[in-house]
Amino acid sequence: MLLGVGVFLTVGHGMAWEGMSEAERAAELAMWAPTPAQLAEQLAALQGSYFDVVAHRAFFVFMAQTMYFLLFFFWRCGGMMLLGMALYKWSFLDGRRSERAYLLAAATGVPIGLALAWYGVMELERVRFGMPERTVVDVWREQFLELGSIPGIQYVQIFENRGAMMGASNPHPHCQIWANAHLPTVPAREQASLTGYRAKHGECMLCRYLAAELEIMERVVCENAGFVALVPFWAIWPFEMMILSRTHLAGVAELDSAGRDLLGDILRRVSIRYDNLFAVPLPNSMGFHQQPTDGLEHPEWHLHLHFFPPLLRSATIRKFSVGYEMLAMPQRDFTPEMAAARLREAGEVHYRGPQAG
Ligand SMILES: [Zn+2]
Ligand SMILES: [Zn+2]
Repeated sequence: MLLGVGVFLTVGHGMAWEGMSEAERAAELAMWAPTPAQLAEQLAALQGSYFDVVAHRAFFVFMAQTMYFLLFFFWRCGGMMLLGMALYKWSFLDGRRSERAYLLAAATGVPIGLALAWYGVMELERVRFGMPERTVVDVWREQFLELGSIPGIQYVQIFENRGAMMGASNPHPHCQIWANAHLPTVPAREQASLTGYRAKHGECMLCRYLAAELEIMERVVCENAGFVALVPFWAIWPFEMMILSRTHLAGVAELDSAGRDLLGDILRRVSIRYDNLFAVPLPNSMGFHQQPTDGLEHPEWHLHLHFFPPLLRSATIRKFSVGYEMLAMPQRDFTPEMAAARLREAGEVHYRGPQAG
């Protein structure tokens, strides 16, 4: 059993970003950016015959059933099985031992089990399985550039649904990137507004808006040298937020290394503030709005991100956009200024400890 626990922790640590060497991290990232040759090989195998697929998968399957089985599954399953067999043989499972024996087993087993489980939970809390935000920003940018360069792709939508309440099927943070052959409705509407404002006033609407918010500082939640997080005055969701770049950038493609560090920094801080709000990993949908990838110049676009969390008063009481919202107009339960004040108070030390977030 001890071997089982030890192997489990070793494997767990090896899989966490924190436990990886530089070379392992590079290999992990390379997996997310396959070369065209690797992609072609994978596609050819998976679209080929049964035997092509077998040849492609054989090595991994062989390893899973030999090495991984011996190192990992054997100890976990075999250990439990041997334990069960022993207890059965000692007539422990059919209730034929003395009452004292069962009490003794409970008195020793429960504390040991609890201690082991507690240690496991603490280790998971400590290592986490997330990547540093800067790494995620780099992958987003690479994917944007790669997908955007494909002829016919007009817009690359990067977004993330977090939490079951927003339809996420996996509990860990994971994003989606949709490459569109057309400009979808919402960015198209924003593009029309940005173009119209620029034509009329000769400046960028979002640069002007950001300057106005920074002047009054009532709805700004947090900021760094590159980005500002604020609750927009038109917010419809109770704790809706927006991150805007301070300088006029059309999209992530224009972010240099320092800019990507700063975007990672503000994303981390915003997500800690959100989690602290109700002391839960706050469910939300977030995503980028930026220039289309239609090959044209887009001086009107100003890089920004939107965050839409559904919660209203607590971890379980959510905002429903129903009745009046459907028939008349959005109805706000509190003002964006109040929401910004709550988010400022939420602080940037994660409620589960300084390491988390
Ligand atoms: Zn601008
Ligand atoms: Zn937008």
